[in-house]
Amino acid sequence: MTLDVMPDVTRDTPRKAAPLLEADGLVRIYETRKGLFGQPVPVRAVNGVSLKVAQGETLGIVGESGSGKSTLGRMLLGVDPSQEGVVRFAGAPLPAAGTPAWRALRAHMQMVHQDPLAALDKRLTIADQIREPLDIHARGNRAERRARVAELMQAVGLRPDQAGRYPHELSGGQRQRVVIARALACGPSLLVCDEPVSALDVSIQAQVVNLLADMQAANGLAMVFISHDLKVVRNLADRVAVMYLGEIVEEGPVEAVFAAPQHPYTQALVSSVPAPGKRLDGRMILKGEPPNPAARPAGCAFHPRCPHAVASCRAEAPALVPTAAGRRAACHLVGGADRLAA
Ligand code: SF4
Repeated sequence: MTLDVMPDVTRDTPRKAAPLLEADGLVRIYETRKGLFGQPVPVRAVNGVSLKVAQGETLGIVGESGSGKSTLGRMLLGVDPSQEGVVRFAGAPLPAAGTPAWRALRAHMQMVHQDPLAALDKRLTIADQIREPLDIHARGNRAERRARVAELMQAVGLRPDQAGRYPHELSGGQRQRVVIARALACGPSLLVCDEPVSALDVSIQAQVVNLLADMQAANGLAMVFISHDLKVVRNLADRVAVMYLGEIVEEGPVEAVFAAPQHPYTQALVSSVPAPGKRLDGRMILKGEPPNPAARPAGCAFHPRCPHAVASCRAEAPALVPTAAGRRAACHLVGGADRLAA
């Protein structure tokens, strides 16, 4: 296909020389109201997150609900602005959301949301939904756009006769295929997927995950895959970042982290993943309530639930530091020379 809808913004960026996506010290604080008089309480949804994603790489982001992963996903695209820190895409800081420069860049950075029905316009046919980004970014002429829509529908496993249907006439899995086709329309370099299969039937989830993996491989996409499902992340991601109360507490190559998690929170998450032949009585049960971003504990935010907490954990927050090749963890009890030097 000759339609120029697949620009490569990183064509001049040597692979590995600079990450495609880089976040440095991101902070997002919301205000919530609390108490009888509704006093404003600041909530640090994302607290100093730094990460990198290389072209063609998948970074999984895992954590319980309330860990800040969805907020972080929106911040990586500039949809949710960062109050501190910077996001760089292909080496340049993201323009402010809503500006013409940011809108132009959105052709290269797309999001796949959890709820496909909410992401689609119920008044538009499937073909119109998929063509919309091509119209917005003025890609190709009418015939080329029509051909591109047909190509995308075929690529994501939709039938040609579904082009004239409306979202409510499709199943949940088919709707998510439409969302994926739409996200791919302009040939993005980066896909941020926020729980893209959690609203789908279990029987459909694997199909959509496989589709995302196929599309990523076929198009050389960088992908940020946000999920609470560790099994899916293990199968799909190259690296994984574990979030707790707005911070990354562990990060590394997915196989290394799952084989030997270093942070006690990661150990608890990994121990609860079912596997053939795995004894569930060896699970590490987390005590206490799930994290509440409005009531952040002092010191290490995980200390009220941590089975290994010592006195210093209540007083001092551990920094996220290198612990092994390509790995980082934020725990006073993990790490070697780097932590000692930190
Ligand atoms: Fe547990 Fe302390 Fe490590 Fe935090 S710093 S994870 S409380 S051992």
